[in-house]
Amino acid sequence: MNTLPEYLIEAEKNHGHMCPGQVLGVRMAMLGCRLVGVDEPKAGKRLIVYVEIDRCAADAINTVTGCRLGRRTLKYRDFGKLAATFLNTGTDEAVRVVALESSRDLARECFSHLPTKKQQQLEAYKTLPDESLFSWERVRVRLPEADRPGHPLVRVMCDDCGEGINDSREVVRDGRILCRACAGERYYEVTAG
Ligand SMILES: [Zn+2]
Ligand SMILES: [Zn+2]
Repeated sequence: MNTLPEYLIEAEKNHGHMCPGQVLGVRMAMLGCRLVGVDEPKAGKRLIVYVEIDRCAADAINTVTGCRLGRRTLKYRDFGKLAATFLNTGTDEAVRVVALESSRDLARECFSHLPTKKQQQLEAYKTLPDESLFSWERVRVRLPEADRPGHPLVRVMCDDCGEGINDSREVVRDGRILCRACAGERYYEVTAG
């Protein structure tokens, strides 16, 4: 694993700017990897990360772990929480790490001599111990075969729209195979033209 300063340089490049979320995300990922015994996250193929937020810290977690949506090693669960679960598929060890709400107040208290909230948070998240920033718990994660990295196991066609569906994401209703959009989860409306 690299050092915090090394990861922060990389995180700023990857994310486009430096922000408290980069520091917190890098710290969270370094802690998560360590807790599940993954020393070289980018070298191995054993790490899967479930990230629960689509904000700054998610990019930092990608920077440290190398886990990506396109490799199926990064799973997004839209919970709106600054939290992530790190799963070592070699050992089945998993740990869920959450950023503590109290870390913001702590940043203000400990670094009140710094002029802005951003500077206070950047400094706090770089220097405070893990226990002041995060809580974590051992968890079990069931990773279905169809969610694992590698080639798609199955591919079917939607009986309604005709589009292909990989990895058992179809819905069977009244004997018909439907994609999730045709089954009622469509997030878009088709417009004219
Ligand atoms: Zn940011
Ligand atoms: Zn369909």
